[in-house]
Amino acid sequence: MSTEKKVIQEFVLEQDNELRFEVESKNEKVYLTLKSGTAEVFGTELVKAKTYEFTSGAKVAVFTWNGCVIEVKGKTDVIYTAKETPMVIYSNCHAALEFMRVEAEKDNKRGPIALLAGPCDVGKSTVSRILLNYAVRMNRRPIFVELDVGQGQISIPGTIGALMIERPASIDEGFSQEAPLVYNFGHKTISANPNLFTILTNHLANTVKERLEVNKKTRSSGAIINTCGWIKGAGYKQLLNSIKAFEVDIIMVLDQERLYNELVRDLPQFVKIIFLPKSGGVVERSKSNRSESRDQRIREYFYGTPRNSLYPHSFELKFTEVKIYKIGAPALPDSCLPLGMKADDHMTKLVLLTPNAGLLHHILGVSFSENEDDDILSSHVAGFVCVSMVDTERQTITLLSPQPKPLPSNILILSELQFMDTH
Ligand code: ATP
Repeated sequence: MSTEKKVIQEFVLEQDNELRFEVESKNEKVYLTLKSGTAEVFGTELVKAKTYEFTSGAKVAVFTWNGCVIEVKGKTDVIYTAKETPMVIYSNCHAALEFMRVEAEKDNKRGPIALLAGPCDVGKSTVSRILLNYAVRMNRRPIFVELDVGQGQISIPGTIGALMIERPASIDEGFSQEAPLVYNFGHKTISANPNLFTILTNHLANTVKERLEVNKKTRSSGAIINTCGWIKGAGYKQLLNSIKAFEVDIIMVLDQERLYNELVRDLPQFVKIIFLPKSGGVVERSKSNRSESRDQRIREYFYGTPRNSLYPHSFELKFTEVKIYKIGAPALPDSCLPLGMKADDHMTKLVLLTPNAGLLHHILGVSFSENEDDDILSSHVAGFVCVSMVDTERQTITLLSPQPKPLPSNILILSELQFMDTH
């Protein structure tokens, strides 16, 4: 393993080898080019002679089935070649899913609904990406469901959502975010509001099942569901709820035998449960790494990536032009609750807020519900804005928004997530 390399390096990889590298230093850029042979990054094939750019925070694996020569230019913090990888096992999982899709296609039935589960930092998101990429390379159109509210691959942190995958993920930018279905949960961990998470997961599951019904190609392709690493106690209960809500057929448990055995014990036999080893390349992320990557995702939502810049709008609205809601009211002691109301219910109560300085830098979900009578709690969102100024004297609020005024709806839902706009 070498560190702090600045020069151009060439790596000759034998078949089934993987070149792994990390870019840590701020403002550093690393360029990767496939010189000869074939190779892929998390299931997306590299185009020969095309140069891919990676920036700070990137943790990458270039795998080759048949051998290749790779050129790496720029300062990597860690770079090494691994001979042992679980790629053959992951590829066998893909083959099993593909077999089920072929059968589903013949009978015009629903294809496999697969779910990735396991503790933090075992490669769940990466395996979902690999399986989706392999599926789409076989001309399938699976639905990707993201239930990881902390480090998800759809929309911004604090959300859950679904996306139809029509082409492989871009090597450096992930899956194209065209028309995702997004629900605003508003927290970076499920434990902040498990009741709300259950409600939103159930809504998302129903919508995904409907979408699987309407499109023949998607129906036989099925879905791949990524989950978060909270798998103990209440987290395990949430996992069981997600499995039930989506009617999951196959669960792939990464790295933890305990979770595997608990699921085998608690689920009916028709749910197939497979244990998968984690890749030695998966990098553990510290709290600050995770928080940085959340910030970066929100920044990219508004400003795009170096290759695809976006130019967000900033505009002022009067307090009277918006209705900002918070989900979850302060807890009341049982004795003060109305008859029949459970103490838990306060966590899913809608509270109308008077705009105040406390909203500064907060993300707000723009609800799809058009009036207050709609079910605001369970509506998905059109997108997100960020509060960049609150002027209590002039009674105005300034928003950073991907789209110009007017907003698609004046109903906005507060998220706990914040974004400091330094642009
Ligand atoms: P979380 O705890 O957030 O749910 P996870 O289990 O989904 O994490 P990933 O996000 O898939 O884990 O992987 C963690 C990090 O490791 C990611 O930055 C990913 O790019 C990197 N990674 C995954 N596999 C490899 C590999 N084979 N070589 C190098 N880096 C890898």
